[in-house]
This record gives sequence, C-alpha cells and structure tokens, in this order.
Amino acid sequence: MIYDAAIIGGGPAGSTAATLLAQNGRKVVLIEKEKFPRYHVGESLMPYCYFTLERLGLVEELMASDVPKKYSVQFASQDGKISEPFYFFQHQDHPSSTTWQVWRSDFDNLILKRARAEGALILEETKAKALITTGDRITGLKVTNKSGVEEEIRSRIVIDASGRDNFSANRQRWQVRDPKLKKVAIWTYYENAKRDPGLDAGATTVAYLPHKGWFWYIPLSGNQVSVGIVAERDYLFNGSTRELSEIFEREIQNNEWINEHLRDARQVGQYRITGEYSYRNKYSSQDGLVLAGDALGFLDPVFSTGVFLALRSGELVADATHEALNRGDVCASDFVEYGRDMTKAIETMRKVVYAFYDEKFSFKDLIMKGPNMRSDLTNCLVGNVLGRSFESLFESMSELAELPSPSPHGLSMADTPAA
Ligand SMILES: Cc1cc2nc3c(=O)[nH]c(=O)nc-3n(C[C@H](O)[C@H](O)[C@H](O)COP(=O)(O)OP(=O)(O)OC[C@H]3O[C@@H](n4cnc5c(N)ncnc54)[C@H](O)[C@@H]3O)c2cc1C
Repeated sequence: MIYDAAIIGGGPAGSTAATLLAQNGRKVVLIEKEKFPRYHVGESLMPYCYFTLERLGLVEELMASDVPKKYSVQFASQDGKISEPFYFFQHQDHPSSTTWQVWRSDFDNLILKRARAEGALILEETKAKALITTGDRITGLKVTNKSGVEEEIRSRIVIDASGRDNFSANRQRWQVRDPKLKKVAIWTYYENAKRDPGLDAGATTVAYLPHKGWFWYIPLSGNQVSVGIVAERDYLFNGSTRELSEIFEREIQNNEWINEHLRDARQVGQYRITGEYSYRNKYSSQDGLVLAGDALGFLDPVFSTGVFLALRSGELVADATHEALNRGDVCASDFVEYGRDMTKAIETMRKVVYAFYDEKFSFKDLIMKGPNMRSDLTNCLVGNVLGRSFESLFESMSELAELPSPSPHGLSMADTPAA
C-alpha cells in the first residue's frame, strides 16, 4: 500500500498535518517513537496558535479546561521591578487574544487524538530509521515498530515533523546553526509558587539576569510553575559548580522577582538542560520530502514562538500537500510558497530575538521611536507575522540593536539556484 503521506513525529506540527490531511480524505500514517502522553518542554502558547487550533476543532475544549489562560507577557528587571504587561486584548479585541499555558503531554496528546479520530493511522513506539530514496526522490521510510521489527512504509510524501531530533536534515547534513544564538537552557518545575492576582495569574514572565540572560516563569495547572533559565554557557558555568540545581539556586538570587515568587515554593522533579539550540535547515523540501516545525528550524524560545510555528507549518504543509495531490503529484515545487512564507516569518522573529539579546536594546526605547512601534512589536509577540512586512519596525530597531543579515536557508530545493 502507498500512503498519501507518512509523517514522522506526533508533536504539534505532525499531528496538525495528520489531522488536516485525514480530514480531506487522505491516507495518512503517523510514526511516533514515544508512547503518548509523553513529556515535552515548551508550555507557553502564542495568541496566533488560536487559528490553527480553531481549524483543528480544539478551541472550545481548551476554553473549558482548567488550563491557565495567558492574557499577557511581562518583563521583570533584576531588582524585581515588573513592566506594564503587554495585554494581547489591548492590541486586538478577538478571542485569539486569550491563549494558554499547557502541559505539553496533555496538549500534544489532544491533537494526536484528533488526528486518530479523523482517520490517520497512528503508530506509537515506532521509530523512523531511514529515508527510502528512489533516484532523487524520497519515496518512504524504514521504521522499527514497537516489537523491534523493521518495516518499510511507502508514501507519496514524507512529512518530517520529528522536532529537534531533526531526522531528515541531520541525515542530509542540512542543519545550519545560528552563529549568535548559542544559548543554554536549564529548567525545572515548582509547586506552590506565587501567582500574581487576577488577569496576571497566567502571564508569562521573562525575568532578566546579567548579560541578557533570562528566566521564564510559566504558571501551569496542578499548582505548578515551569521555571527555566536561558543564558550563555560561559556565564552559567563560570563558577565553582557544574551542578544544575546549584546553578539554578545561584541564579534565583540574581532576580528579585523570581526570588520572591519562589520563596514558599517546593522544587519538583529533575533539572533539565539543553544547549546550542537555534538552527535552520538548508532546505524545507525536496521531491518527496517536506519539513515542518522544529524539523525545519528552531528559534530561541524567548518569545514562545515554537508551538505556533509548528502548528502553522503543519497546517500550511497539509494544505499544500492536499492541493498538490489534487493536481496528481507532490514535488518540491509544490512547497515553494510554503518555504518562502515560513522563512520570512522565522526571519521576522529572529530579528526580534537578536534585538532582545543586544545589551544596548530596550523595548521602551523602541516604543518611543514612533507611533506604530508598539503595535508592530505586539504583532510579532502575538504571532501575527505570516504575510506581513515590518520594514519601519526593523528600521527603528536597527538604530538600537545589531540585527542579523537574512539567512538564505529554509527554502524549497526547487526555489534555490544552488540546488
Ligand atoms: C528550552 C526550551 C523552551 C521552550 N519553550 C517554549 C515555549 O514556552 N513556547 C513554545 O511555543 N515553544 C517553546 N519551545 C519550543 C517548542 O518546544 C517546540 O518548538 C515545539 O515542540 C515544536 O513542535 P514539533 O511538532 O515541531 O516537534 P516536537 O513537539 O518536538 O515533536 C516531535 C515528535 O517527533 C518524535 N520523533 C522524533 N524523532 C522521531 C523518529 N525518528 N521516529 C519517530 N518519531 C520521532 C518525538 O518523539 C516527538 O514526539 C521551547 C523549546 C526549548 C528547547
């Protein structure tokens, strides 16, 4: 049997693509190496996740759940002073201005279940091992199923949504690391940490550390909070200890807001770490293969862009695949627009991330630069970045911070002269 689509990975990108393709009557198989629900970092959503979640039919369930609602992002200086929150509803009076702080085990499982309900075949505890190539075209996957048996799956397109495992790009040596965004993240969870009152109870707080390091503080259900540090490796490991718990305790003392919010809290579970994590792959598609979510590229998580980009890319890939199959075949040329749209959106957010880390830059100075600055910036912070240009924002930003020159990577192979 030849599937219309074989999808690697049941995270937000893969499950979204699987749901929408199956809804359109396509024969879909999704291969996931873990058994869901499984742990995943990345709990804070962006407002513009709403539109994909609405298409997936999941908004009502999220609205009715006990998942904390996120109305804003706020910034806390080292001495504990908190900024005026960026309330999303002040920017746009629309249900999408309310978003959520989710346990990813539950959230990802919700979308995976949706894909299954629409008729996608979900093979958990099954691992993709190799791409099958016929001539220059990818025509399927070799997988190991949960009994350890190798199988071949044939499909008209392979959608790689394998996350930061970056399955296909690693095999094709497509990964290009961002030269500047070489941070390390250490994170853990706390019970009984302080919640701000009223609308701010579910806010994401970005709390500064020296040299533009920062804490995230994400209130979750079950009286828990996700707390993480992102900073340069040299800064985090410059002291006498390499123990993650000791580094964490040391840094808590470096931000008064975090210190105060964790004073009566109890740390739970393990400390986790990841490093060197911003990259973009050279190509987003070749004949028979397209990449989505973190398997296309990963951007520093300071603005919680990851799940949004995963959902949106899953959606765009599903639509482009469906249309291509309607025409008869699916090739790299069918993903030219997809590659351009995603690359432009990622480039937009990458500039804001670069500005954030520039020691001279502050949002306050940027907003003073002109009447459109606050609204343009908020469009970036909510995820309203696809199909938009932000020329005047970046012109002003470049007077305050060193912005990156555009990366050429992430386009379809059919859209690149060097291919
Ligand atoms: C420290 C840190 C903090 C973050 N914080 C945030 C945040 O607050 N908000 C936010 O929006 N984003 C955040 N992110 C990013 C977010 O986690 C990702 O962008 C998001 O999970 C991407 O979704 P995805 O579907 O592309 O991949 P994933 O969610 O990673 O899903 C990929 C799936 O593929 C499976 N898989 C991998 N390889 C194989 C294989 N060979 N065979 C079969 N299955 C395979 C994996 O098991 C996994 O289930 C953060 C990331 C990091 C590292």
